[in-house]
Amino acid sequence: MSVAIYPGSFDPVTFGHLAIIRRAARLFDHVRVLVAHNPEKCGLFSPQERVELLSAVTADYPQVTIDVTDGYVVDYARQIGAQCLIRGLRGADDARAETHLAALNRNLAPELETLLLPAESDLVAVSSSDLKARAQRGEALTALCPEPVARELRVRFGKDALA
Ligand code: ADP
Repeated sequence: MSVAIYPGSFDPVTFGHLAIIRRAARLFDHVRVLVAHNPEKCGLFSPQERVELLSAVTADYPQVTIDVTDGYVVDYARQIGAQCLIRGLRGADDARAETHLAALNRNLAPELETLLLPAESDLVAVSSSDLKARAQRGEALTALCPEPVARELRVRFGKDALA
């Protein structure tokens, strides 16, 4: 069985992440989305809340499961027997950072292959940080994230009435 992990912060999940998950689910028998959380970094959503939002918006994908770790991603990949680590690329900055990360991970776990999937053109500018900034300003979020995520963001930022 082919197994891939897709690690990230997912604070919170966006349509950009979902597109990567959908594409990975076409390539692998099982995709484990991993909320990789650094206890020293405090996000807007707790790790458990990020897992719940990811679970809600991937409910239609039977081969996708959501997990959380505060340990090393490569250790987790080994534990579950993943062959591949998936990351997304939005542009030159991501390419530089992700290539560096892939090299570090290859040193730690040579058996784990990194697969970099380029962003779809209409999602290149979508990021969790931009999403949160827009939510804070009360802007429309419909093109950026699924409705359960937008709803949570509106509650967080007290913008209940906005689309
Ligand atoms: P991290 O903090 O680990 O970068 P993110 O949640 O920001 O976590 O992103 C997880 C992965 O998803 C990263 O590889 C990132 O490049 C990718 N990603 C994020 N947004 C998009 C997008 N719009 N299109 C494609 N890939 C994306």
